[in-house]
Amino acid sequence: VRTIGILGGGQLGRMLSVAASRLGLRCHVYEPGAAPAGDVAHRLTTAPYEDSAALRAFAESVDVITYEFENVPTSALDLLESICPIRPNRRALAVSQDRLTEKTFLNEIGLATAPFVDVPGKGDLAEAVARIGTPSILKTRRMGYDGKGQVRITDPAQADWTGAPSVLEGFVEFSAEISVIIARGADGQVSAFDPGLNVHQGGILRTTTVPCGLPANVTTDAVLIAARIANALDYVGVMGVELFVTPAGMIVNEIAPRVHNSGHWTQAGCAVDQFEQHVRAVAGLPLGDGKRYADVVMENLIGDDIDRVPDLLATPRAQLHLYGKGDARPGRKMGHVNRIAG
Ligand code: ATP
Ligand code: MG
Ligand code: MG
Repeated sequence: VRTIGILGGGQLGRMLSVAASRLGLRCHVYEPGAAPAGDVAHRLTTAPYEDSAALRAFAESVDVITYEFENVPTSALDLLESICPIRPNRRALAVSQDRLTEKTFLNEIGLATAPFVDVPGKGDLAEAVARIGTPSILKTRRMGYDGKGQVRITDPAQADWTGAPSVLEGFVEFSAEISVIIARGADGQVSAFDPGLNVHQGGILRTTTVPCGLPANVTTDAVLIAARIANALDYVGVMGVELFVTPAGMIVNEIAPRVHNSGHWTQAGCAVDQFEQHVRAVAGLPLGDGKRYADVVMENLIGDDIDRVPDLLATPRAQLHLYGKGDARPGRKMGHVNRIAG
């Protein structure tokens, strides 16, 4: 493999491109919208996903295709895959694109999720609330991220909701949220980074802390859960698995078939970070040593947090990452900082 094609040109694609460059590989990014990755990738295509000539030219210019964005239309993926392999595979993508499919798959492989029911449209909500109870959370099946498309339901009549196909989930009283960033190579070898403790604010990840401070029986269980998912999907690449820790055991919240925001700490905590690990896996190279050698707190810089950059530049043991986005809208991820403890 010499050139990696990346679907999606956001900050994740940008950091993947940097990691690929370091390994002497080239990246061709396909991104119809704003593309922070455009300034570091070797090549950028900005055509829409409906442009089959552009898709074909993209697939022919690369040796393997990966993605940092899960919602590429199926028709585009079919065309791309007829020309070039896609890693992680289509099944991993299909399972995680849709919360109903995702939770059903997780239950089928023996993993616990929050109780859920399918809510195809407005007329189905009352019955769903009757079954799941309140408080509960209504989530659109597709396209949601950073808590967008979610409504907390405390009263069935309340629903301030578009009526898009959704799932209603029981509210989980978790004691902690953790995530496992796991890599699986083309040969089936698996390597997990230490689980991180995640704190969210307004549905958006605020900080990830490693070590997570939970006992080894919990962190080992978390890694085994992530490995079970990766193996069941015959996964190749890095995957993020979000978990709720409860007194009754671990509950899988969702999986992301890509590098994950809660894995950004690995840039400062490991010799081989999640981006390099992903590049290695999809390029068919051996996985690297993902062992953690430092305690790290990763903090996202969201919206006008960007104003803190001068201070952060002057902070010792703070590794700053800025995504080069111009417009610091509220809720927009502008960068992150990895603070190394000690
Ligand atoms: P992202 O993909 O950016 O992580 P998302 O929009 O897919 O976010 P979720 O991860 O499903 O959303 O939910 C966001 C956060 O809301 C969770 O990390 C958790 O803090 C809270 N949350 C979600 N589902 C539940 C639940 N069933 N019970 C309690 N809290 C929940
Ligand atoms: Mg999500
Ligand atoms: Mg999430």
